[in-house]
Amino acid sequence: MRLDPWTLWVIVTMVAVLAAIAMNLAWLASPRERSLAYWGMGVLFQVLGLVVILLRGHLPEFWVILIGNALLFISYGLMRVGVRQFAGLPLNWHQVLYAPALWMALCLFPAFIASIHVRICLFSLIAATLLALGALDLERVKDSRGIGRWGLRCTLVLMVGLHLARAVLMWGADSSHGVPIISSSAAAWFGLTGMSGLLLASFMLLLMVRERSEFDLRRAAQVDELTGLPNRRGFHERAIAACGGGGAISVALLDIDHFKQVNDRHGHAAGDRVLRAFGQVLDASELGRGVIGRMGGEEFAALLHGLDPATVRTRAEKFCAAFRDESARLTHGEGGARLAATVSIGIAHAQLQPTAAPAIAQARLDLLLTRADAALYVAKASGRDRVEADDTRIA
Ligand code: GH3
Ligand code: MG
Ligand code: MG
Repeated sequence: MRLDPWTLWVIVTMVAVLAAIAMNLAWLASPRERSLAYWGMGVLFQVLGLVVILLRGHLPEFWVILIGNALLFISYGLMRVGVRQFAGLPLNWHQVLYAPALWMALCLFPAFIASIHVRICLFSLIAATLLALGALDLERVKDSRGIGRWGLRCTLVLMVGLHLARAVLMWGADSSHGVPIISSSAAAWFGLTGMSGLLLASFMLLLMVRERSEFDLRRAAQVDELTGLPNRRGFHERAIAACGGGGAISVALLDIDHFKQVNDRHGHAAGDRVLRAFGQVLDASELGRGVIGRMGGEEFAALLHGLDPATVRTRAEKFCAAFRDESARLTHGEGGARLAATVSIGIAHAQLQPTAAPAIAQARLDLLLTRADAALYVAKASGRDRVEADDTRIA
């Protein structure tokens, strides 16, 4: 299709303005996500640089070359800062200025200003380097494996390739007729491709931000704030997966003894202190090697896989002793009131066939929990601070 280069440049500018508006709005919508702010600012600089370059003919040539391109380098630098912010890396603001400073220094040489070939070649090489550095920073993002990251990686690599191809083409081009930067269709198509890449990259960053916030929300919904252990929902999800895998499964329910009295005597904050200590001891114990969680109030659960009932009982008894010792050291308030507490544990065992049906795995877990609860009741009735097990294995 043959389009007038100026029509193409109007389209390029509109794409750039759209990307800038979208990214800055996205940042306004989630101000805490600062990567969007830096990236959005980067796209804004892209628009400014583009406008300055398109004003060639209306502004002095030297300033167009100097400022227009410097603005574009700042733009790539800011986008890289956005990626670094997302990856949790140091932002290194000064690095944003390296490329523009180099460009300005080069502009001091009349030969550089005079050779459009060399300028375009160098511009493309520097832009490719900045984009490649952004792509490398992206590889250091830890907790994001979704489509957004994959897409941003591909887009950045394509943009690097585009700039490198441009550098090579410029190097080999016939310079005898001069090179029309703005007025040629090829240049305008290059601009459109580059700007579409930028729009796509912006969209991918947005996708990454969304994917990560969804992941964070999901994780937060499965963690108990007080102890940092998985909550009932988190425990259930992992425990159902373990039951689906089959094999020897044991479930222990752990309930702190006379916990209401701790609250009544020393206050709620003291009770919370005991709960946190309980969580820490459980996490560090041998029971903590399995799936553990806070089921609610002062009740916790542990699921162990591949152990015989005697080993599970020994581990539970060790935990009873460990918590007794640890809580004996806990004091509260100015008077140093002792918060000593004990725990009762009920255990149930099963020998399970693997199943792919979550409903079956869930039913098995429910049965194990019910049996463990019955054993816990026996432990409470027999004097507390002890382990009781229902040794009939569910099949
Ligand atoms: P038992 O030995 O029979 O288990 O007696 P208990 O007192 O431990 O059991 P009960 O169910 O009567 O009391 C549990 C108490 O746990 C009541 C509730 O106020 C307290 N509790 C539940 N969640 C929290 C919490 O997050 N923080 C604090 N401090 N207390 C909590
Ligand atoms: Mg209790
Ligand atoms: Mg209870």
